[in-house]
Amino acid sequence: MFDKRFVTLLGSDVLFAVLSLLLVLRPEQAAVIFPFYGLLFLWTHFRGESEIPVIFSFLVGFVGLVLAARAPVPADQGAFLIETAGLVSLNFALGLHRTDALREQRVRQAERYALEAGIRDDQRDLDYYRSYQASAGTQIRLRRDLTESAKSLGNTMNAGEVHSRLVGILSTRYPGARVQVLAGAPADPLVDAAAKRKGPVLVRDSSIDERFSGGAFRCGMAVPIKVNRQPAGYLTLEADKPSAFGPEDVKTVDLFATLASLSLENIQLYEQIHEQATHDPLTQLFSHKAFQQRLQEELLRSGRSQTPLSFILCDVDHFKHYNDRYGHQAGDHLLRTLAAILSSFARPVDFAARYGGEEFCLILPNFVRSEAVDLANRLRLRVESEPFVFQGHNTRATLSLGVSSFPQDATSPSQMIRVADERMYRAKSGGRNQVVG
Ligand code: GH3
Ligand code: MG
Ligand code: MG
Repeated sequence: MFDKRFVTLLGSDVLFAVLSLLLVLRPEQAAVIFPFYGLLFLWTHFRGESEIPVIFSFLVGFVGLVLAARAPVPADQGAFLIETAGLVSLNFALGLHRTDALREQRVRQAERYALEAGIRDDQRDLDYYRSYQASAGTQIRLRRDLTESAKSLGNTMNAGEVHSRLVGILSTRYPGARVQVLAGAPADPLVDAAAKRKGPVLVRDSSIDERFSGGAFRCGMAVPIKVNRQPAGYLTLEADKPSAFGPEDVKTVDLFATLASLSLENIQLYEQIHEQATHDPLTQLFSHKAFQQRLQEELLRSGRSQTPLSFILCDVDHFKHYNDRYGHQAGDHLLRTLAAILSSFARPVDFAARYGGEEFCLILPNFVRSEAVDLANRLRLRVESEPFVFQGHNTRATLSLGVSSFPQDATSPSQMIRVADERMYRAKSGGRNQVVG
């Protein structure tokens, strides 16, 4: 109800009034009563007041001087002056002590504030390091996962396998989410949005997004998997909880999609290089190198399985003359048409290749020589009757063919080729447009 200062003032006023009244009532006892004013200073001192004692010091000093002036004998006057000086000194000493105590208190308080500020700073630093440690931990885990995923996605040469491994990696990373790789036309609304945006799309809550309301997911994202900067598929993640994924997750999924993209680009590049290394660019038939390897493999297989194998080598007759007459472009066109005819004669197990220049060959597993000679003749007749139309002109060409067979003619690739070559030249010297087997 009353504050501390008010109580101190009231208490000291009462004390002053009582002592002053006693002085008036018992003037003969004044020398004994007067020093009790000291209680006033002690009271205010212990109540922690600094201004009130100054006022009382003045009042008490005044009372002491009045008492001294009114004292009948000089000895009493001296006593009152001494008592007055004593009381004022007491107040002064208490004041000094209070000032020291206050100064010390302020120093202590300043130290406490500094300590508290230090603790707050340390706490803030600690919180920062904790959050830094947590995010560094997340980054390290992400990097480790990315490294492992890069290995896993990079050590397969099958695009389908890359897709299924990517789905596996992300299903483990986001348990409960439905992960899919959707290729081709954007039939899915999420994929459609990503295709239009040409980048990742995040839908935090389909129930408040009319484009996706009624969809099979609550929260979803679609991230394009680009191969040579073109979308080659879309990675979709769907969940039944709203805000199951956030922008950070989209960034993470995009990183994994980029890894898959790199693997798919590698596979495509490898396939292109392999295609170039094994195929002839003009006719798209297998190259000489690929043929050599295949002949060796087929001979080994036939040797193991004790089955026959035949080989046809053919050469365009007077092709130099053909080039001279119709031009090299017409010659190229003829070679391409011949390659298509040769391929149409080959079964899936056969192997048609461009041996070199205007020479082609055919490996025929499980064919005895008579069957191969028969096929060579059918091929010869077909070529003989082919119009080979180039720029509106009908042109004609014929083939000379040599046939060799495993096991009766040859048991090694070089023997097989040599025998067929010799027979092809016999066909040439025999008048061309014929088969020798
Ligand atoms: P032969 O009946 O004895 O086989 O006579 P030829 O003229 O066919 O034989 P030759 O070896 O003298 O000529 C082969 C020609 O094939 C020479 C070369 O210019 C031509 N040739 C080789 N490769 C190609 C090609 O890729 N395109 C074209 N247009 N011509 C080619
Ligand atoms: Mg030739
Ligand atoms: Mg020729």
